[in-house]
Amino acid sequence: MRVGVIGAGIGGLLVGAKLSRMGCDVEIYERLPFAGGRFTNIEYRGYQLSTGALHMIPHGERGPLGRMLAELGARVEIVPSKPSATIRIPRGNSFEDLEFSEFISRLGFWKGLMYRLLILEACLSIGTGSSFRDWIARRLSDEGVAKLADSSCGWALSVTSGEVSASEGVSIIANILKYGGSGVPMGGCRSVVNALIQVIEESGGRIYTNKKVDGILVEDCTAESLCIGGEDITYDLIISDLGHRETQRLIRGDGHIGCSGVKRYEEEVASMHPTSGVKINIGSSESLIDHTGILLTPYAERVNGLNQVTNVDPSLAPPGKHLIMAHMAMRGNDPEEEVRLGLEDLEMLFPNAEYEVLMVQTYRDGWPVNRCAPGEDIGNRTPYDRLFVVGDGAKGRGGIEVDGIALGVEKTVEAIMQM
Ligand code: FAD
Repeated sequence: MRVGVIGAGIGGLLVGAKLSRMGCDVEIYERLPFAGGRFTNIEYRGYQLSTGALHMIPHGERGPLGRMLAELGARVEIVPSKPSATIRIPRGNSFEDLEFSEFISRLGFWKGLMYRLLILEACLSIGTGSSFRDWIARRLSDEGVAKLADSSCGWALSVTSGEVSASEGVSIIANILKYGGSGVPMGGCRSVVNALIQVIEESGGRIYTNKKVDGILVEDCTAESLCIGGEDITYDLIISDLGHRETQRLIRGDGHIGCSGVKRYEEEVASMHPTSGVKINIGSSESLIDHTGILLTPYAERVNGLNQVTNVDPSLAPPGKHLIMAHMAMRGNDPEEEVRLGLEDLEMLFPNAEYEVLMVQTYRDGWPVNRCAPGEDIGNRTPYDRLFVVGDGAKGRGGIEVDGIALGVEKTVEAIMQM
């Protein structure tokens, strides 16, 4: 089977690696000069910054991505975060960092019991209420818990807990219980990308960089070929790693007019929204975080959390330095104001520390944090035969970031097998 893949982000590489290992003849086209999309390293003054991700894999080595990499023989060492997270809360004029269990035990007996009830509901997939915030507040009304829910959603999804549906929030918790907490790949995001490239090339697949796909030609409701540099290249199967919206924009020809489900698909696609965020990259001689997980900051104005990835892999910064990355969901429409508030947060969170802001990156529109907000995901199928969508615009319920992408790739491959 000849497969054409549009985009060499982690979604395109994963599906390309899976299908080439299964014996398909895979060609991947990437418009940029490098593969990896929003999941690869940018070297800057000896620091390994990134094109997007915070060098973390949400469910670590036991999650869908970790397992898929192992199955494919893609060699990446994923170090489990210990603890998964601590929570910085105010104490007098200063702060203290609590592990999650300590945070819950400080809620007292009754609220602690309500918390356990919520977890039980999540296990049973009972997600009632309009939003994740409502779902929590129904049982557990507590300002600290509400702030923690917002900073966790801001860190993982770039939205507030009020913007996540209750059923999506419950599915995410269920996945955390099922697969476990995060991990950091040694070498950062690029090590995952390089390992996948190796699998694809060893299995006879090809990745073409600097090759933009200009269109997908649809004939009789079937995706037939890719239009690249004035040439039409025919495939048995086309997979797009661009999300549904960008994929829809590439459809060419009259062959899609009147196909069943197209109108509904166009409406669903039009109602999707990307999520936006800001990442502040910090270099420091002194350690700002003393563990390998996330420092959640629910009491900050904008910053949702930070990680210090050099605690796992010191080679991500020059000798003697630490790389710390702060992430925040973008709340307002003025990126400069968001950045200003984020930098103020850092001064408040680390009042006596001497650190250097290396680079501030904003993510929105065509290069967002997530291509579609949680709960807006419509899966991997399109109304056109032989055209599928993978990547962070098509993860499926409860899928977080690259682990959600791996779940979507798994479902896509299953659907292809049934064709
Ligand atoms: P992309 O990486 O966007 O890949 C799509 C590719 O298609 C791109 O390379 C693009 O250049 C190419 N392309 C586009 N149009 C065309 C065309 N016409 N022809 C050919 N090629 C084309 N996830 C985690 O798991 N852990 C994290 O710590 C994490 N942190 C994040 C922090 C930030 C600030 C951001 C922005 C994201 C973060 N994420 C994280 C999310 C994660 O980075 C993305 O979900 C993931 O990288 C998306 O991969 P993708 O393959 O879906 O899309």
